[in-house]
Amino acid sequence: MDMKDELEPHVRDIVRALGGKVSEQEVERELGNYLNVYRVSLDTAKRSIVKKHGGNPADLSLGVTKTVRDLVPGEQNVNLLARIVSVNEKEVETEGGSKAIRYGFLGDGTGTIPYTAWNPDGVELAKGDVVRIQNAYTKEFKGRVEVHLGARAVVTKEDDALLPAVEPSRAAPAGPATAAKVGELRERMGNVALTARVLSVEAREVKVDGEAKTVYSGVLADESGKVQFSAWKDFGLAEGDVLRIEGGYVKSWRGIPQLSFDERATVTKLAADALPPREALAQSPRMWIEDLAERGGAVDATVRGILIDVKDGSGLIYRCPECRRVLRKNTCRIHGEVQGLADLRVKAVVDDGSGALTAVFGKDLTELLLEKTIDECIAQAKEAMDQEVVRDELADLLIAQPVEIRGNVTSDDYGLMMIVDSARILKVDVQEEARAMLEELEG
Ligand SMILES: [Zn+2]
Repeated sequence: MDMKDELEPHVRDIVRALGGKVSEQEVERELGNYLNVYRVSLDTAKRSIVKKHGGNPADLSLGVTKTVRDLVPGEQNVNLLARIVSVNEKEVETEGGSKAIRYGFLGDGTGTIPYTAWNPDGVELAKGDVVRIQNAYTKEFKGRVEVHLGARAVVTKEDDALLPAVEPSRAAPAGPATAAKVGELRERMGNVALTARVLSVEAREVKVDGEAKTVYSGVLADESGKVQFSAWKDFGLAEGDVLRIEGGYVKSWRGIPQLSFDERATVTKLAADALPPREALAQSPRMWIEDLAERGGAVDATVRGILIDVKDGSGLIYRCPECRRVLRKNTCRIHGEVQGLADLRVKAVVDDGSGALTAVFGKDLTELLLEKTIDECIAQAKEAMDQEVVRDELADLLIAQPVEIRGNVTSDDYGLMMIVDSARILKVDVQEEARAMLEELEG
C-alpha cells in the first residue's frame, strides 16, 4: 500500500469534518505539506487542517491507529490495536466518593505500556483479549508513557489472530547480561546479571495457564538494597546462599521492581564471604523519598520525616465482611448494607524534605500509637456518638511529629505509599540539641 492510499481515508475524513467546503485535492495537498514539510504527526496534521478552515477537530471520526512504540506523552484521540496483558482493579478516592478503576499493561508487537481505565464499567477488559481502543489519551508518569481510557474511550474486542501473544519480560535473553546492583533494578529490565544473598526463600504451588508449577520466592539483598524474587526452576536455593544470577528479568508489582529468573538463567553459588553477612544485609536501609520515587518503590525501606497530615479515612473504620472495602454509612459499594467489621488505621502523609509519601499504619500499629485497644476506641466513639473522635485524637498525637517508619513502598498514579511494618515517634529534644550545638561552638 503506498502512502497515498494510506492517507486517502484521512483526506475524506477531513473533507467530511469540514462539511465538504474544501475539496479533496486541496486537503490532500495540505496534508502532504503538513506531513512532509512541517513533519508533524498525522493526527496533529488532521486537526490543524480542520481548525485552519474553521472546522471543529472533534468532528473528525477516523483516528490514527498507532503502535505502542510510537506513543508519546500528551496525545489525544489515540487509537490502538492491542492485547490486554494484565488487568488489576483498585479503588481510588475522587471528589464524588471512592470508585473502582482498572489498570495494567497492554501491548502489541512493538512493546508494552501501562494503561488506566477510569470508567471500567463501560469497557470490556479481559486479560489476553485483543481489543481496538479509540479515543484514549496519553500522559507521562515518571518518564514513562501511559495510556488513559477516559469517558470518551471506546473499547471493542477484536479477533485474537490480529496480534501475537505478548509476554513482555519473558523474551529469551540474548547476548551478555547487563550487570546491576539490586538498588539499580528497574521495571522491564531484561537479561540482568547480579550478585546477591538469599535472605529468605520458600516454595509455593501456583497455576500457570492451568498447569501446576512450583515457584521459589523470597528476598535477595546486596549492599544497595533488597528485592523480592521468583525462581521458576528449582535451583536448590537456601537461605544465606550468595548467588550469581545471569539472565534474570525485572517485572514490577505496584511499582516495586521484582526479579524473576527461570531455566534460561544461569545461577551459580559463590563463596559465603563474597558479600557482607546476612545480618548486615537484612538491615532496612534508610532512604530518601525522592530516591524511592525515582525507583518506583522498594522492599523494606526506612524513612525519617515529619508526619504532616492524618488523612480522612483514618481512625475507627468499618469494613465489609465479604470484600474488606471500607463502608460508607454501613453500606458496601458492592455488597450493599452489611454488618461492618471494625478496624483501625492511619493514613498519614510523611515528608522528609525531599518528598512526601502516604504511610498506612494498620490496626496493631495504630493501637500501639494510641496506647488503646480497638474495643476501647469503639467505646470511646459510642460515648462521643462520633466515629471521628479517634481520628481527631490521632491527629493531635501525630501531626508535626518526627517519625521513623519502615515497610514496603509501592507506587501508582497517586504517588508513593508505604505499608508501615514498624514505626516510632522520634523524641528529638530541640532545645537540648540547640544547647549542645552552642556548647560545641563556644568550645
Ligand atoms: Zn463488600
